Amino acid sequence: MNEKVNVSEIFGSNVFNDTEMRARLPKSVYKELKKTIETGSELNPAIADVVANEMKEWAVEKGATHYTHWFQPLTGVTAEKHDAFISPTDDGKAILEFSGKELIKGEPDASSFPSGGLRATFEARGYTAWDCTSPAFIKETPNSTILCIPTAFCSYKGEALDKKTPLLRSMQALDIQAIRVLRALGNTTATKVTTSVGPEQEYFLIDKEKYLKRKDLIFTGRTLFGAMPPKGQEMDDHYFGSIKERIAGFMSELNVELWKLGITAKTQHNEVAPAQHELAPIYAQNNIATDHNQLVMETMKRVADRRGLVCLLHEKPFAGINGSGKHNNWSMVTNDGQNLLDPGKTPHENTQFLMFLAAVIKAVDLHADLLRASAASPGNDHRLGANEAPPAIISMFLGEQLDDVLKQLDTKGEATSSKQGEQLVSGVHTLPDFMKDATDRNRTSPFAFTGNKFEFRMVGSTQSISDPNVVLNTIVADVLADLADELEKTDNVELFLHDWIKTTVSEHKRVIFNGNGYSEDWVKMAEQRGLPNLRSMVDAIPAFGTEKAVKMFERHGVYTKTELESRQEIMYEQYAKTINIEALAMIDIAKKQIVPAVIKYQGELADSINTIRTAADVDTSVQATLLGEVAENLKALYSAIGQLEKVTAEAEAKEEGAEQARFYHDVVFEAMGEVRKPADALEMLVAKEDWPFPSYGDLIFEV
Ligand code: ADP
Ligand code: MG
Repeated sequence: MNEKVNVSEIFGSNVFNDTEMRARLPKSVYKELKKTIETGSELNPAIADVVANEMKEWAVEKGATHYTHWFQPLTGVTAEKHDAFISPTDDGKAILEFSGKELIKGEPDASSFPSGGLRATFEARGYTAWDCTSPAFIKETPNSTILCIPTAFCSYKGEALDKKTPLLRSMQALDIQAIRVLRALGNTTATKVTTSVGPEQEYFLIDKEKYLKRKDLIFTGRTLFGAMPPKGQEMDDHYFGSIKERIAGFMSELNVELWKLGITAKTQHNEVAPAQHELAPIYAQNNIATDHNQLVMETMKRVADRRGLVCLLHEKPFAGINGSGKHNNWSMVTNDGQNLLDPGKTPHENTQFLMFLAAVIKAVDLHADLLRASAASPGNDHRLGANEAPPAIISMFLGEQLDDVLKQLDTKGEATSSKQGEQLVSGVHTLPDFMKDATDRNRTSPFAFTGNKFEFRMVGSTQSISDPNVVLNTIVADVLADLADELEKTDNVELFLHDWIKTTVSEHKRVIFNGNGYSEDWVKMAEQRGLPNLRSMVDAIPAFGTEKAVKMFERHGVYTKTELESRQEIMYEQYAKTINIEALAMIDIAKKQIVPAVIKYQGELADSINTIRTAADVDTSVQATLLGEVAENLKALYSAIGQLEKVTAEAEAKEEGAEQARFYHDVVFEAMGEVRKPADALEMLVAKEDWPFPSYGDLIFEV
């Protein structure tokens, strides 16, 4: 155990990265490929053969026998189909080959992926195209070594069938508009603006043996039953607590695997809930960060499995304790070295920063519904608005310093000062003195400014971070596009900007909120301010179909109307299917496991009364009372199961779409709650050894 790891040696060792490319490719080929990667120009097919061959040589040296076009269909997870490098020769043998064509283009028969009506099942053609801006890598497991080529996945007609194509389109849109704005401001050096993203990933680890006894976890990823143990998270003793050896072993192995993949796994700690943890990498370019986050989730699951653990990525595996999310840290950076969201020490003097800040504020206010919808998932419905994650209302937290600058702009027409951080006073002489940040944090805000980036905190832990970033990039690009139109017309940029920033802040300040986002008062205040409160996934989905959204996405070539319709269709379907599986699992577990266990326990109680009565004339009123309580709850449970069966059948009979999803939400989901109540009450009454599966206490405290 505890083998010494040479991090600098293993980091990126399974990636066909810049170092490998430079070392292996002929200089001219390397230069051309590099140009394509950096400028986003089209790839010259003539060099593809050379790149493919060198990539194959490298992969084969690493032990790879197969390659795959690795893509991200609308299921939200990744997909791969392996092809061997072998090519038969005339003498009955085989050589290893990989052509440029095979590198650039793939054609999986992928008709079984959700397309939301973009493609009828008989139109099976779909193409995967190499995204050369995200490096190829080797997925190495104890039993296989595969060269993975990150790709985008489109239909025969060029419609996006995946989560990557729109992301790349949105990055391009933001690049174009941000560069226009910078040019108008007199910047001549920047030629590209990219978004940088650092997603913090939360997850649970539980013991595999116990997991295998929980059919709810197996079928749905979350517990459908479970009484609260005597202790939950109220002591706050897990958050940042010392990490158990078994968990530390998992984290070490995970880190090594991720480092090999060039993923900068950096921070790890215990989270608020018992058995909950977090991993954060260092930020990377948007599409790479998105690929990496998929790999992080997949690797977590694999490493856990190897170690007799199970990694739960569901947004709410356990009721009553915190669920898991993903904080999407986002910023815009130029290739001349600027972070456009860096305020510097004196933000009131930093017009360029204030302009980009105002642009983000405007974008978030105008399209709060889209941001909310981009974080909608059946699992996330348990978190958003449930007093642990951000509320379902989108608001922005800017912190004291920026808030003050914007207030000055709003009330006086100009900002003349920036509040500064003060000396931290600890009262202990031996502790070093340092300056505090100018601003404290706010945990309850869904969209918070944290120093030099925004942190979108609504994203669910299972979700691909593609959707939220597509929305973020596009809504900001849209505001910048309008701004660039104006800037390019004006002859006094400075004066124009001064007014624009002030007006924009005044018009959109309603989205800024620095108070407690969990409070009921905020819900009321937000309503008065006219901010949308889309409580559930079903409420949020229509945001992708509004005229406003279609116009904006089409303007920037990110989604067509048809593509947006397909996304909504898939979301409704995903919601309905998820609740359907949960309802069926619940019925199954209740009928086949809980009811029989309770009846058995009833028998034991009754037997005990008889046995004791026969032996001696002593009091058996406790058994009798218990028997009565058990019988009452059993009756309630049985009737609730009947009701759930009835409404689930009704839901299944409905036509797929918005109305069916709504029914699952309003009726089936409610009926599930009614089954759970008496079942959880019974868990507290029935003897532990008679209960058919491990309890919450067993699952979260005995890892
Ligand atoms: P927190 O601010 O949440 O306490 P960190 O400072 O570690 O935690 O940052 C969280 C994440 O934000 C990390 O993934 C980090 O790399 C990322 N991050 C930092 N700066 C930027 C930036 N300019 N753009 C995008 N992500 C960033
Ligand atoms: Mg954070």
